[in-house]
Amino acid sequence: MAKLEEYIPIVGQSIIDDLRLLAKRLEGKVVQHINSTAVGGGVAEILTRAVPLLNELGLNTKWDVIKGGEQFFEVTKKFHNALHGRAEEISQRDFDIFMEASAENIKGVDTYGDIVFVHDPQPIALINKRAENKWLWRCHIDVSNPNQKVWKFLMDFIVKYDSAVFSAPSFSRRLPIRQFLISPSIDPLSDKNKELPQDLIDSVLKKYEIEKDKPIITQISRFDRLKDPVGVIQAYLQVKKYIDCQLILAGGSARDDPEGMQVLAEVKEKASKDKDIHILLLPQNDIEVNALQRGSDVIIQKSIREGFGLTVSEALWKAKPVVASNVGGIPLQIKHKYSGLLCHSIDGAAFAIKQLLNSPAYARKLGENGRENIRNNFLLTRHLKEYMLLFLSLYHPEDVVQL
Ligand code: UDP
Repeated sequence: MAKLEEYIPIVGQSIIDDLRLLAKRLEGKVVQHINSTAVGGGVAEILTRAVPLLNELGLNTKWDVIKGGEQFFEVTKKFHNALHGRAEEISQRDFDIFMEASAENIKGVDTYGDIVFVHDPQPIALINKRAENKWLWRCHIDVSNPNQKVWKFLMDFIVKYDSAVFSAPSFSRRLPIRQFLISPSIDPLSDKNKELPQDLIDSVLKKYEIEKDKPIITQISRFDRLKDPVGVIQAYLQVKKYIDCQLILAGGSARDDPEGMQVLAEVKEKASKDKDIHILLLPQNDIEVNALQRGSDVIIQKSIREGFGLTVSEALWKAKPVVASNVGGIPLQIKHKYSGLLCHSIDGAAFAIKQLLNSPAYARKLGENGRENIRNNFLLTRHLKEYMLLFLSLYHPEDVVQL
């Protein structure tokens, strides 16, 4: 894995020096992250890289994962959708299942950190075992318009934390505890994002039987309705009337997402008649995701709701032109017509894709601008700095901490 030194050519020496100074101020503290899956989805993606780098900085950082059965993850997926504002029937039985699994985790998970950093709703009830240590709740979901029943249920836990962290200003809620706005990030040196030789990119395309004879449009996402894979197919079909092109919909599954296989089956059915649509169920393989992103002409992220949308930053870092929905954290990453194109509908997505395929110079410029925006705002080094400032703030509750 990349060492801190290797980030200097990308972000500059002073950023790395800042990180070292901040880590020194936290010497002796143990920071314990807790989430619900070690693989799959954006949270695991970030922790996989953030944890080793924080340890290299000298901040003792641990990562634990809660347990849960199928029923528990079905309920938490419903919560997730409901918090994103999707209509979901949530019953008392669902809350009971959540509380039963939480009771098991309260018994089974040791919360030994000086700072316990809990990610998303699945492990939120662990706060009920809080002792003298500090507790943070990190919300990765767009909760700007949440289902009130679920939000109220979570509030009983949230108020017991020291602070809450949201990804974008529009997600913040009225809370009696301190709130921080810290957007996620990507690691430019991970297998997912590092430079790749062209022959490796070609070999991955070949492995999945994708020819380079016509432009490739790609969406990389878990097979989840909120990522609107069917909408992507509809947009592609509109583009296809004018430009001969192909579509890749590639995704794996996350352990805490039980809906994936069903959505995949629906998508396969919709795509079955068109040999230019490639539906790929990817193994957890970051190099392959990287190669597919790099091998594409346009990246699409047509989410209906989005916490942040790491895939957008990943594509922009590769200087790819991106068409993405104007939802959640996406407009933080894309300034419309400057560093990508934002869309609001299937028609809008199709129009934007056509525009990019017809104007390669414009597409290239958007991609280049996008890359610089990611360099300045959405790389892991900025994220680690903000996390360490946040940790320090817990020990200085009266001070205003400048992020
Ligand atoms: N991802 C992956 N393989 C897949 C699908 C997604 O590695 O088959 C990665 C993707 O590259 C990104 C993360 O999973 O790093 C998804 O994060 P995002 O914020 O886009 O969405 P989430 O899944 O958290 O809703």
